[in-house]
Amino acid sequence: MLSANELRKKYLAFFLSKGHAEIPSASVVPENDPTVLFTTAGMHPLVPYLLGEPHPMGKRLVDFQRCIRTGDIDDVGDDTHLTFFTMLGNWSLGDYFKKESIEWSFEFLTRADWLNIPLEQLSFTVFEGDENTPFDQESYDHWIRLGVSPERIAKLGKEDNWWGPAGKTGPCGPDTEIFYWVGKGEPQGNKGSHSKDWMEIWNNVFMQFSKQEDGSLKPLEKGSVDTGMGLERTIVALQHRNNVYETELFTGILKQLEELSGFEYAVSDEMKKSMRIIADHLRAASIMFMDGVEPSNKDQGYILRRLIRRAIRHAKKIGIDAQRLVSPIVDEVVSSLNEAYPILAEKKDKIVSGLLAEAQKFEKTLAQGLREFSKLWEKNKTISGEDAFNLYQSYGFPLEVTHELAHEQGLEVDRSAFEAEFKKHQDLSRQGAEKKFAGGLADHSVKTTKLHTATHLLHQALREVLGPHVEQKGSNITAERLRFDFSHGEKMTPEQIKKVEDIVNEQIKLDHKVYAEQLTVEEAKARGAIGLFEDKYAQIGGKINVYFMGDYSKEICGGPHVQHTGELGGIKIAKEEASSAGVRRIKAILG
Ligand code: ATP
Ligand code: MG
Repeated sequence: MLSANELRKKYLAFFLSKGHAEIPSASVVPENDPTVLFTTAGMHPLVPYLLGEPHPMGKRLVDFQRCIRTGDIDDVGDDTHLTFFTMLGNWSLGDYFKKESIEWSFEFLTRADWLNIPLEQLSFTVFEGDENTPFDQESYDHWIRLGVSPERIAKLGKEDNWWGPAGKTGPCGPDTEIFYWVGKGEPQGNKGSHSKDWMEIWNNVFMQFSKQEDGSLKPLEKGSVDTGMGLERTIVALQHRNNVYETELFTGILKQLEELSGFEYAVSDEMKKSMRIIADHLRAASIMFMDGVEPSNKDQGYILRRLIRRAIRHAKKIGIDAQRLVSPIVDEVVSSLNEAYPILAEKKDKIVSGLLAEAQKFEKTLAQGLREFSKLWEKNKTISGEDAFNLYQSYGFPLEVTHELAHEQGLEVDRSAFEAEFKKHQDLSRQGAEKKFAGGLADHSVKTTKLHTATHLLHQALREVLGPHVEQKGSNITAERLRFDFSHGEKMTPEQIKKVEDIVNEQIKLDHKVYAEQLTVEEAKARGAIGLFEDKYAQIGGKINVYFMGDYSKEICGGPHVQHTGELGGIKIAKEEASSAGVRRIKAILG
């Protein structure tokens, strides 16, 4: 029986055999993209390349990408939706298109030397067409040609089988999705009825058109392919399980929860739900800590905080306190994910202490908050948005915890009305910019890319002026400004700031060519590259990606960048301030 690790390796091996280059899994916190909080799909870090920027590793790429979907949190506890999951993906950047993509998906899934899934267990969907766009006959024909029965192919509309564009304009096109039978008895029909008996495992998107300002679709000269296969769901299929919690990624965690609580997982649906939520949320929280997220009141930190609090509430419900809970569960998370994400083991102690501190902070107010909830409940037999807000303010209850408590009392709370009322009371500015992926593209704009290139020049100039102790501690770029955090013990003098600005502008004027090379760590060091050498995720097959700007800047980075520094025009340092102990922050704009 194939394990998750084996599936991951097979997937990479299969697409390597089809001429793809393996690229590393990016962080769950998107680099240089403040419009989304988390990486939600394998394609997310590749957006600039799907828009035409040449990728240093070529036109055929494969990877496994750790993803966080906050939009799926309400579904967590069901059989197939996780907050954190791993997406296997392969891409054609203007290279192969529908024929190869569909053939290879078919070959990988059904051939005996690969996954060997019986064809009867699979069904497929294709885009049926609408008044503006034709039926995706080509994809349909490819499936039929490979031996799929017409009965197993559903033709669905834009809501199901269309992707993009991410912004108002840009690449978009039909997709074809692949489903596995998880219903009882013999497989029946196809996904057309939207039946839960068919679980989506793989999605192949064909970027075939470019949407224009006037709304029309212009065919692209060269189409691109973006696919995503859910690792956890696919092993459900391969191991003939009923849900993701029955796979080895979760069984160890659930066994620990049974031992710690003294309850059996299967004793009731309520017990199952609590254990599933604890397992999912602590797993996602561990990955967030691994990628450097710290609990806070905004952005990624607030999502992390909410996951921990909800997990702790469920743990309390089944009689486990944080002190006993955290360490054994993180142990299980690490042992099930460590082969894919080796940094997890290195950071284990940090994860345990971070999780425990945050969990215990919440435990202090949890019991009191639960008493307050009961009082409110006894009095009013309902919970208003204002009550929810007060529970949040005084006891730190995230909205979903209060909602769940009300739900457990048998109250059908109108979620959206409740949320709206809660929000009225809430400081909106604290909500952070949790937007859907839609915003992502807009922000790989030319301006953002320019500011990213400027960040490299700035980094080098700071080292020149302040000394080689300067290292990047953080970077956040919008279309309006760059923000760069770096190690330096004291405030910069106005002269130093001016000097750094002048150097960067001089390097811009020199109009260096910007290009990437893949080097071994030794080569990169020998050539004077700076950046995170210890970042294993920037390495593939022993090589790391280094961006050069003439001979001036050499830095480990995944891009995207402009082609010549002259394109930046010039920069202005708008602000220099303290960020945290020993770390300074610079904000700069183009101009
Ligand atoms: P669904 O409709 O089931 O939520 P989706 O349409 O959101 O799936 P995609 O965005 O196409 O899924 O993602 C590609 C693949 O990633 C899916 O085919 C699935 O295998 C996997 N996937 C998506 N969301 C999750 C999740 N929350 N947990 C686990 N796997 C997921
Ligand atoms: Mg979904």
